Amino acid sequence: MDVANNLQTIQKNIAHACQACQRKKEDITIIAVTKYVTIERTEETLQAGITDLGENRLEGFLEKYNHFHDRANWHFIGTLQSRKVKDVINHIDVLHSLDRISLAKEIEKRANKQIDCFIQVNVSGEESKHGVRPEALFTFIEKLKTYSKIRVIGLMTMAPHIKDEARLRSIFRHLATLRNDIHMQNLIHAPCNFLSMGMSNDYTIAVEEGATHLRVGTNLVG
Ligand SMILES: *Cc1c(COP(=O)(O)O)cnc(C)c1O
Repeated sequence: MDVANNLQTIQKNIAHACQACQRKKEDITIIAVTKYVTIERTEETLQAGITDLGENRLEGFLEKYNHFHDRANWHFIGTLQSRKVKDVINHIDVLHSLDRISLAKEIEKRANKQIDCFIQVNVSGEESKHGVRPEALFTFIEKLKTYSKIRVIGLMTMAPHIKDEARLRSIFRHLATLRNDIHMQNLIHAPCNFLSMGMSNDYTIAVEEGATHLRVGTNLVG
């Protein structure tokens, strides 16, 4: 299917989910995850009207960024090794995977400006998943106060790849609760307004639970 068609379907599903929970679809950003696809397919994605692109690896990011640079807002959504920070941090608009203080330290050292970051939270508790544990989140955010280059704009999570809707919903709801708790603290360095959650498998549930940034690959461009 062409990207424009896929996008139409996804937008229709988002509109439907928004209606069900009385949200505005304008409050939701679709990030097209282009990690599986070519430059040509990414071009088609931008032509379809997508403005936000996501990549999860340095190599893929640089390939796309070097080709399209200011034609998109760039989201780095994968685990970022500290030694690779210097290669991406001044090109991206948003980092979705801040998950440890050593990474914050490297960003502090390398960034030319303040970077909008989501903190990745391991809500599902899967061993294989990266992210700060929910119990450690408040302390982690407190520590980030002294890092002038980091602004915590929200929380991000990756749900397991499962069909169990109730389980997915409870994971997203948990992240939304954590976001609300932090948001209410009115921290200057951590306004925490946004929720990056929902992928091809589960984005309508994520919308119903308050997602503001959807990261969609397979169903949109794949
Ligand atoms: C690949 C990836 C996605 C997109 O997954 P799809 O199931 O293809 O939509 C979203 N977020 C992250 C962090 C990813 O690595």
